[in-house]
Amino acid sequence: MVPASASEKGRVHAVVVPYPAQGHINPCMQFAKWLASQGFTITFVNTDHNHARILASQSHHSSVWEAEGLDIRFASIPDGLPDHHDRMVDFAILSKAIDTHMPAHFEALVAGLCSSDASRPTCIVSDLFMNFTQDVANKFGLPRVAVWCQSAASFAIHVHMPTISSQGYLPVTDDSKLDPITSIPGHPPLLPKDLPSFFQDADFSNYMYNFKLRPFQRLQEAKSILINTFDDLERDVLKALKDDKINIFAAGPFLPPALLSKEDSRDNRTGTGLWPEDQECITWLENQKESSVLFISFGSIASLSDIQFKELVLGLEASQKPILWAIRPNLKDSIESVLPKSFLESDHVYLTSWVPQALILSHKNVGGFLTHGGWNSTLESLSFGVPTIVWPYFADQMLNRKWIVEEWKTGKGFQAAHSGLIARDEVERMIRLLMEGKEGHEMRQRARKLSQAARNAVQEDGSSYVNVKNTLRALLSS
Ligand code: UDP
Repeated sequence: MVPASASEKGRVHAVVVPYPAQGHINPCMQFAKWLASQGFTITFVNTDHNHARILASQSHHSSVWEAEGLDIRFASIPDGLPDHHDRMVDFAILSKAIDTHMPAHFEALVAGLCSSDASRPTCIVSDLFMNFTQDVANKFGLPRVAVWCQSAASFAIHVHMPTISSQGYLPVTDDSKLDPITSIPGHPPLLPKDLPSFFQDADFSNYMYNFKLRPFQRLQEAKSILINTFDDLERDVLKALKDDKINIFAAGPFLPPALLSKEDSRDNRTGTGLWPEDQECITWLENQKESSVLFISFGSIASLSDIQFKELVLGLEASQKPILWAIRPNLKDSIESVLPKSFLESDHVYLTSWVPQALILSHKNVGGFLTHGGWNSTLESLSFGVPTIVWPYFADQMLNRKWIVEEWKTGKGFQAAHSGLIARDEVERMIRLLMEGKEGHEMRQRARKLSQAARNAVQEDGSSYVNVKNTLRALLSS
């Protein structure tokens, strides 16, 4: 699907392409909305599959943006997988499909846009992992800004992965080398088990290993790389990357400005959820006491075994805290069959499937967040000053737990989900520590300090604001 003419009035026109997963679509859309607020025309390119899901789930967003004067158009291209295929089960299948099918379709889309002066793009703004967008940018002589949707720490690990592997740290097994990795400039010592999971085996022919590292061999081709973080959060790692001559800038947090500035009047929805959002949960939240609610969400991919799910529920019940829990349809299909009636019917408990997460985390009645530790969830909780219990599953979540627990000290962590069962007593103990104790109070104070730093970063003349403005100035003058 190609949008109608996309650049009347001589506006600057960016074609924005996220990696096709929720944790990439959301930050890319937030950044796109910010660009649109600065006068850009945006063509936002999803896969056909995700585009159809977003349209089915988010009936309202386009009209709201139009009302705000944001010129955002949608385009979509096939990823080559059958529609019923669950794309989040095996990333190697999705990534192979991206490499095989998307380049030609994207090239055709950009060729179509370039065929008229009215729709010709000025630049491509795309997820670093969407490697083929660089080829298309080169072919049409368009500058590209790459967007990195994880932490700067994770970026630095990707840069230094060949060294880490040559030092004999892989594969990571129970008997593998236990001394920490100290060769990542600006990064504190890192245990191999906290490396992103795609790198933990030593199979260099592994599709994901190569898919993840390929873009790092051509970083200099992008005009610049913008990271969804902010300077005060990851100063040393960012500095070391710059010292390494990487053209990288902290540009986040990519979150609704209305939420960061605590204004209610403007649109504060991401508008790109792959599931319909429950808005009623906000009414329930309004009726709770300040900082009393534990919000639980495991993001868009992680899943729990039945036995772990039960143990978690018993721990939650024992903690007696008000609970708001987003149980995605593919996290647990039939909650009625596994949840005790007392829990299902409790006034203290609000169970739903998908929520406006950033809006919830920004609410004063949320006192803690039990999260899988995805980067967006991590950044959202820090940006709104909410302390966390991190329960990592895969990808960069173990790394994010390390930073939350050891560096920012804004939360506590469970062991990684694959390392064994977390018993109900442990769940209860951790929740009480977070929501009641002195330690929890101190973690909340530290999170609130970082929240202020996040808000400062995106304000006019804040560090992220200036970084993005400078990037755009250099881009548009090239
Ligand atoms: N999210 C949401 N509603 C939910 C659960 C998650 O809007 O009920 C959003 C959340 O705010 C975040 C994204 O989905 O922006 C999940 O990204 P993250 O990096 O935290 O985890 P992933 O899904 O990639 O594992």
